Amino acid sequence: MGTPADDGIAAAKRDAQAARDAEAQIWWSGKGRIACAEHVPRPGSDAWWMDRWELADAAWLEGYERGHSGSARCEVCVALEQLERGPEGAS
Ligand SMILES: [Zn+2]
Repeated sequence: MGTPADDGIAAAKRDAQAARDAEAQIWWSGKGRIACAEHVPRPGSDAWWMDRWELADAAWLEGYERGHSGSARCEVCVALEQLERGPEGAS
């Protein structure tokens, strides 16, 4: 209830959330593609303009989760993870 200690904890939680948000930044393109901050074309580049990339906000992410029964994930990261795991069913 607003004691100084609680305020400190709340501030720490806010900082942690901000760090997670930066890591989990999701971009979406007008062509239906999804990328993280690392894999989105460089903002302002031709490819970036061509696909009309926009930073997804909380409302967009919520809408995506409702429509896809899962959170939005960068296509490139997903593909890389699948590569690391190897072909499905390989021994
Ligand atoms: Zn990525």
